[in-house]
Amino acid sequence: MHDELALDRPARARLAEDLLGWNQSRPADDPALVASLREALEDGLAPLGADLTAAAATARRGRLLVSKSALDRLSCDGWQRDPKPYRHSWANARGTLTHLAVEQDWHEGRADAPAAVVGRVWRAEASRRPGDPASLSRWLNDLPADDAAGLREEVGALLTGFREVWPPLPPTAVGARVERPVEVALAEGRVVLRGVPDLVLTSPRRDDRARTLVVDLKTGFPRPEHDRHELRFYALLVSLSSGRLPFRWATYYVTEGRAEVESLRAETLQVTVRRVLDGVAQLVRVATGEPDTLRLRGGSWCRFCLREDECEVAADARRIQAVSQPAATLPG
Ligand code: SF4
Repeated sequence: MHDELALDRPARARLAEDLLGWNQSRPADDPALVASLREALEDGLAPLGADLTAAAATARRGRLLVSKSALDRLSCDGWQRDPKPYRHSWANARGTLTHLAVEQDWHEGRADAPAAVVGRVWRAEASRRPGDPASLSRWLNDLPADDAAGLREEVGALLTGFREVWPPLPPTAVGARVERPVEVALAEGRVVLRGVPDLVLTSPRRDDRARTLVVDLKTGFPRPEHDRHELRFYALLVSLSSGRLPFRWATYYVTEGRAEVESLRAETLQVTVRRVLDGVAQLVRVATGEPDTLRLRGGSWCRFCLREDECEVAADARRIQAVSQPAATLPG
């Protein structure tokens, strides 16, 4: 099947080998493992009982939503309760537009020049909610013309780089779901795990082998531990929602044209189950506990927390950081 891919460049051949696992044998699919992951989640949620019901009742749509953002905030209950509102920035906008451009390009089968694809994505995004001052549309529309052109150019270059490294995948050999939300309901719908994996690739099922690959695209600086946790959460979501195990999951750094790959291991998914359970326990604690029962822990994440300026735990963490790593706290 190798010749079905245009592996005319070394980078494409490397990606086919290291990431896509093209022509390599797959591990066995194991529906019993998927069932045991779901069971472990349900068993772990059961002891939360009435507190879980009470917390879900206060949540939007009566369900606790466990997303990658919620899991990010596991470090501190205060951050979970009072995160700073999301702010658009050059890096975030570049990431969002690149994801949209890759998605659009994928559906269009690379039929147009990258700059044209980016132009369409830009216009769609800029006209989505221009009246909302907090929207990306407004942020894009407020950019000076030179900056807007510069940002489009950067996104166009990233899409070009993506095309260079990723061979076009024949639709007969690979099915692709791009940026599709995945939701998994637990505890009779009181808990919902939700994520939007960037790419879920599947090849036709011919035997009892695992045939799914989950890919997360990143355009910012690599944050290895964070990125790994996020990706594993997606792998778990895909497993639970489809009942089938991915044979592999990978973070693809678009700017670097490089992938970090993990192959299927039951232990990795089991660790992720425990992380999700920790996340739900935290959401319940934050929703139902008194303010003085919150577990606070300061660190680099404090800059994303609304309490940062007044928080003594954050101040302590900064003092410890200043003593242990003085260079890291120098301004600029
Ligand atoms: S400032 Fe830091 S330590 Fe304080 S509540 Fe927020 S994240 Fe926690």
